[in-house]
Amino acid sequence: MFTEKIIATIGPSSASYDTLSRIIKEGASCIRINFSHGDENSWKNYIKLIREVEEDLGKIIAIMGDLSGPSVRIGNLKEDIILKKGEEAFFVYKNNHEEGSKEIPLPIKKFFETVSEGDILLLDDGLIRLSVEEVIEDCVRFRALTDATIKSRKSVVILGKDLKLPPITERDMKALKSVVKNGEVDILGLSYVKSVSDISMIKDVLSELGIEGIKLASKIETKSAVSNLHDIIEHSDYVVVARGDLGMHFPLEDVPRLQSKIIRAALVHGKPVYVATQVLASMVERSVPTRSEIVDVVHAVYEGVDGFLVTGETAVGKNPDKVVKWLRKILECYRADVESLRSRILKERERLKIAVSLRDKFAEGIVTLSENLGAKLAVYTKTGGLARRISKYRPKEPFYAGSSDIRVLRQLAPLYGAIPVKVSSSDYSQGLKEMFERLKTLGEISYGEVVVLTYGLRDEPRHLVEILKVV
Ligand code: ATP
Ligand code: MG
Ligand code: MG
Repeated sequence: MFTEKIIATIGPSSASYDTLSRIIKEGASCIRINFSHGDENSWKNYIKLIREVEEDLGKIIAIMGDLSGPSVRIGNLKEDIILKKGEEAFFVYKNNHEEGSKEIPLPIKKFFETVSEGDILLLDDGLIRLSVEEVIEDCVRFRALTDATIKSRKSVVILGKDLKLPPITERDMKALKSVVKNGEVDILGLSYVKSVSDISMIKDVLSELGIEGIKLASKIETKSAVSNLHDIIEHSDYVVVARGDLGMHFPLEDVPRLQSKIIRAALVHGKPVYVATQVLASMVERSVPTRSEIVDVVHAVYEGVDGFLVTGETAVGKNPDKVVKWLRKILECYRADVESLRSRILKERERLKIAVSLRDKFAEGIVTLSENLGAKLAVYTKTGGLARRISKYRPKEPFYAGSSDIRVLRQLAPLYGAIPVKVSSSDYSQGLKEMFERLKTLGEISYGEVVVLTYGLRDEPRHLVEILKVV
């Protein structure tokens, strides 16, 4: 049994029916497509494959489409460019790479306008460092400060400099129009969010394109995002601690402090929060995680996260399914101290004067009731609201969230503790009856067990909270 969730990035290593099936069987509840890589065709194929596996395994899987956002990325390379420490090469403002050439295409004008001699460039989550030796208009001559294997579409950060790029790129527009528009993407990842106005701008674009019902996951990875943390979280549906870029925009040793800060803020606002990047990074090459990676995962569990987002480990790693298997294994062994988490959240909310709605209080009461009775908890929800509230109060045991809306269920799948259950009824009390029967048929509840069943509080004279014993 585990309550935290696993989000796995799909890529060349995991995009086969067998591997993806194993990843999902091992416990991934959300698959992330990174729109920074690949093209429309590959994204469409990923979606088709995910839905096929979802159907065949009878699981409910969310798809997160991650916009590339205003990042500086190098273009497509004919082959990897391998530089030894001390070797020199060039970034050139152009689209195409010629075989054997050390002129690396970088099709973003703003980069060349911003960069200057003496700047340090970071690639590959900071593993590669380059120093800028000379800037001649549309060409940058640099020296590798580390051994560097430069691959297609890697992002480039100028240490300490913030490029003012629009929040949505042409590539993002392509992704929105080609694959997000048809409703198959449940959650949209927003990279490099800086403020609430970025989120509003993206919402405007979505509504112009007629894209509805999608949830937004803000990736916290820039200095501005950390400064505007509470506002951004309030306006987001999910929060991602994007440690890769955080560790390039801040000194690396600040990452643990920032991670705690972001997780706490998300918990206080009741938004699901995930730790991403280098979660089990050594498993890109190897089949067993390191001790320190395991300790890092457990630390985040104790901090109260909803889950983990693995990136290169499943996208390009050698052991994509083992990564998920190991994560699950770790999650099954360690539990957050939810009681102290809950009381800390409540205290923080009071201190920050965050309004607690009647619906929130109801959800908290239902969690306590089911725990006091030693009962299982099952809620019926049309929009997902009650299930989100239950999850944010961190019940000790997983709970069932039933809905007739498959998209709502998919969006609930990555939430702490939530087990989505498809029911056909769109009527509240009928929905509860159906859930009870479904759970019995599925063998989720058995003889003698007690179940608390209810739906979200509404403004009505009578509300049903059922306590049923399986006889
Ligand atoms: P982000 O800043 O969004 O995390 P990223 O480039 O770091 O972007 P990740 O999703 O973290 O990408 O994945 C890690 C690495 O895995 C990428 O740098 C890339 O080399 C590879 N990768 C991820 N998705 C794909 C894909 N669809 N096709 C090819 N390679 C991919
Ligand atoms: Mg990354
Ligand atoms: Mg990133």
